[in-house]
Amino acid sequence: MEKVMMWKPELETMPREKLLEHQLQLFRKQMAYVYERAPFYRRKFDEAGVRPEHIKTLEDVSKIPFTVKDELRRSQEKSPPFGDFHCISPEQGVRVFQTTGTTGIPVRSLLSKKDWLEVYYDQFMYFMYGYGITKADSIFIPFNYGLYLAWWGIHSSFEQGGVLVIPGGGQSSEDRIKNILEWKPTVVCGTPTYILFLGETAKKMGVDLSKTTVRIVITAGEPGAQVPSTKKLIETTWGAKNYDDIGSTEISNFGFECVAQMGTHIIESMFLVEVIDPVTGKTLGPSQEGELVLTNLCCESMPLIRWRMGDVVKVDIKKCDCGRTFLRLEGGIIGRADDMFQFGGVNIFPSAIENFVRETKEFSNEYQVIAPKMGSGKHLRIRVEPSSPSLSKEEMDRAVKAFKEIFKFRIGVSPDVEVVKIGELPRFEGKAKRVIRET
Ligand SMILES: [Zn+2]
Repeated sequence: MEKVMMWKPELETMPREKLLEHQLQLFRKQMAYVYERAPFYRRKFDEAGVRPEHIKTLEDVSKIPFTVKDELRRSQEKSPPFGDFHCISPEQGVRVFQTTGTTGIPVRSLLSKKDWLEVYYDQFMYFMYGYGITKADSIFIPFNYGLYLAWWGIHSSFEQGGVLVIPGGGQSSEDRIKNILEWKPTVVCGTPTYILFLGETAKKMGVDLSKTTVRIVITAGEPGAQVPSTKKLIETTWGAKNYDDIGSTEISNFGFECVAQMGTHIIESMFLVEVIDPVTGKTLGPSQEGELVLTNLCCESMPLIRWRMGDVVKVDIKKCDCGRTFLRLEGGIIGRADDMFQFGGVNIFPSAIENFVRETKEFSNEYQVIAPKMGSGKHLRIRVEPSSPSLSKEEMDRAVKAFKEIFKFRIGVSPDVEVVKIGELPRFEGKAKRVIRET
C-alpha cells in the first residue's frame, strides 16, 4: 500500500457513533436551512407533514420524502432557469453547471462563491489526500471544459491545494499524448473508457505510457476503476495506480478510493448516506445491496435532501486498512436501479454485463442476454460477437474464459457464453433491448 495521507484525520478516523452524531447535527441544521430558504423543500416537507424540529435521531430521517431528478426538472420548467430548489439568489451565484441530459431534460445548478471556493475545495482535498497526491504533483486534465461538472471540481480545487494543473482541453488525443510527454504530469484523469483509449492512441504513436512520469490515474463516470480487469488494464497500460472518483453534477463529488484500494469511501463528514430498497423505499442495513440515497450536509447553494441517485451499491462500514472509518462502497457503483432484473436470486444489471462485454477487446459492443425461466435449471446465456474476423478460436476461447471469471466474481452467477458470427446480433437505434426473458 502507498503511504496513507488524510485531509482531516480527526473526522476521517472518528469512531462511527461519534460520526453519526456529527451527521445528525449537520442534517438538522441543513434541513432547517432548506425549509427556510427553498420553496421547493418547504412545500415537500409541509405536504409530508414533517418539520425540521421532528428530526431528533438519524432514524427520523426516513420520515422525510425523497428528492428525485424529475422534481428538479419540473421545478425548473415552472420557474426557469433555476427552479425553486436553490437556497441562494441568482446574484449570489458564481458558477453554473448542467447535467448531460442523457436521461431527459438537463438539470441546471448554480453555485455560490462559498460553495465553489470553500465547500468544493474541502471535498476535493479529501480526494487529493486520499489518493496520496501532494503539492509536488502535477495533473494533466484531458477534458473538454464545458457545462458539465466532470473535472472542473478537481481542476479548481487541486489548483487551490497547490498542485500544478495542466489543462488538456481543446486538443486531439494525439496532442494530449504529446503534452503528457512534454509536461511530464504525475497524475492524469478521465473516464475509464477514455483513459484506455489514450492508451491505444499512445500505442499507435509508439509511446509506452508505462514509461512516463504518470504515477496516478483517477477515473470517474463509469464503474471501471472498481472492475478488477479494467483496473488492472489501466494500471498496466499507464504503469500507475488507478483510483476511483464518484460524483454527479447534481450532488457533486462524494466518493474517492484510498490507497488501500478496498472500495470507494464516501465523505461522510459532508454527506449522509442511506441505502434503500429501490422498489419499496425502505431503508436497508449495511452489506445489503440497494439504491444509494445521499444528502448534502455542508453546501449552501442547492443542498439535496434524501437524493435518490438511481445507482445501486453495497456498503461496508468496517474500518478500512487505511484507518478511515468513512464507509466504503464495495465495488463502487454496481449498476442502475431502473434496469435491474433477477436471476437465481441475484439482482443483475444489464449495465454491468455491458461493462464486462466492453472491457473484453475480443468482443464487439453488441450483446444479448437470455434469462431462462425461473426454476428451469438453465444457465443465464450471453451471446457475443468477435470484434474482428481475424481473431483465432484460441484467442476467443481465452476471452470467453476471462469474461466468465469476471462475471462470476462480480455478479455471483456462472453464465454460458455463446460466440455468434459478426453481424448476427440485432443492432439498435435509440434504446436497446438486450435482455430476453424466457417464459
Ligand atoms: Zn481506505
